[in-house]
Amino acid sequence: MSSSTAGHSPGRHAVRNTVLATLISAFLLWLASEFGPVMTELLSEYVWAPIVTAASVTWSAVTYSVGVPVWLLALLAIFPARAVVGVLQKRRAPAGPPEPRWQDYTVDYFHGLRWRWAYAGERIFDVTPFCPRDDTLLVAERDYYQMFLCCETCGERWDFRGDDARSLRGKVERQIDRKLRNENEWRAVVAAQRSST
Ligand SMILES: [Zn+2]
Repeated sequence: MSSSTAGHSPGRHAVRNTVLATLISAFLLWLASEFGPVMTELLSEYVWAPIVTAASVTWSAVTYSVGVPVWLLALLAIFPARAVVGVLQKRRAPAGPPEPRWQDYTVDYFHGLRWRWAYAGERIFDVTPFCPRDDTLLVAERDYYQMFLCCETCGERWDFRGDDARSLRGKVERQIDRKLRNENEWRAVVAAQRSST
């Protein structure tokens, strides 16, 4: 019903389409027959011929023989060879020591003793004294009014008049804290310890 109300029969469309298709294919055939050989000729003259020429020129340039003295040839060969060897050696060489971090700073000397400590996050804790001579953990001894730190290995005693163990630790902790905030100081200590081991 809708086709009859459109005013023209659907057959006319089909006829027009067939005519158009025939015309277009005829045009394409004519184009191909007319310009096909021309296109082939153009391709061979402007695309293939230059590629072939460039390739043959490059080949003859690369394989062209020149008279070079042996010493020059040797020099030319040595420099790239040295570069290659250098690259290989660099690759083979073990990576240097890693850059020191502040967390590596855990040993230092204060008040004539060796001190070790640890970090909990950024907090210094467990500050502990050791004998500077034999590295024994020192023990605190106290008589009536003064504190000694004693080495059980060498028998040495250190007198910290007026300081108990806790206040002495506090003093050392403040020195560690000061050095940590002065990058040059803790870096120098870590570097010295690395080079001595
Ligand atoms: Zn000792």
